[in-house]
Amino acid sequence: MTTIASNLQAVRDAMAAAATEAGRAPDDISLLAVSKTFAPEAIREAYQAGQTRFAESYVQEALHKIAALHDLPLEWHYIGPIQSNKTRAIAEHFAWVHSVDRLKIAERLSGQRPAHFPPLQVCLQVNISGEASKSGAPPGETAQLAMAIAQLPHLRLRGLMAVPEPGDDVAAQRAAFARLRRLFEQLNRQGLQLDTLSMGMSHDFAAAVAEGATMVRIGSAIFVQREYPQDALFK
Ligand SMILES: *Cc1c(COP(=O)(O)O)cnc(C)c1O
Repeated sequence: MTTIASNLQAVRDAMAAAATEAGRAPDDISLLAVSKTFAPEAIREAYQAGQTRFAESYVQEALHKIAALHDLPLEWHYIGPIQSNKTRAIAEHFAWVHSVDRLKIAERLSGQRPAHFPPLQVCLQVNISGEASKSGAPPGETAQLAMAIAQLPHLRLRGLMAVPEPGDDVAAQRAAFARLRRLFEQLNRQGLQLDTLSMGMSHDFAAAVAEGATMVRIGSAIFVQREYPQDALFK
């Protein structure tokens, strides 16, 4: 078994254990492999080990990989910051976008989604840690924003996403994920039909699963660094 295949298996096992511990069905949580900064060959290897959903954070890098891997039936998710001048490329090349945090960006994505494609599946990113530097809509604006995004014709609002402040304290991790889950439940009580809570990364996915994550985004626990730093090969 390759390292990527055994890492994937270890992540799947840990997700299933966290789900069982929380009284949830392991199949209710899907694994998104975050392949940003890793080469197309690494993605191909993960695909051969059964992984089909991949996430990228930089548009140019992603377009290169999507083209290089067009022979594989992969589902591409965009999870990075969104600049206005990149919305067309995102609308044309991805199935999902998790990082929508402004109405203007959502409107551009809807307007630029090719009409013959299925709607772009989107999550609204929420800033649950309150740091000035992080992207994400303020929790207090989430309801109004979600209602407006849900009206856009070529998008389908699926749920909420967050990247909490990093930290090893499991109680703090759970408290942050619980805030996102409560917002999600509140929106559904207000009439939206959201089914996706995109939360949890390599260091905190067990806490996210315990708090109701339906999609975890895992990069470093799956993909491995090159055996030699790239520049060492040329010395
Ligand atoms: C990079 C990234 C991840 C994956 O992080 P790891 O710590 O490598 O698992 C998840 N979500 C977002 C938004 C990211 O940018």
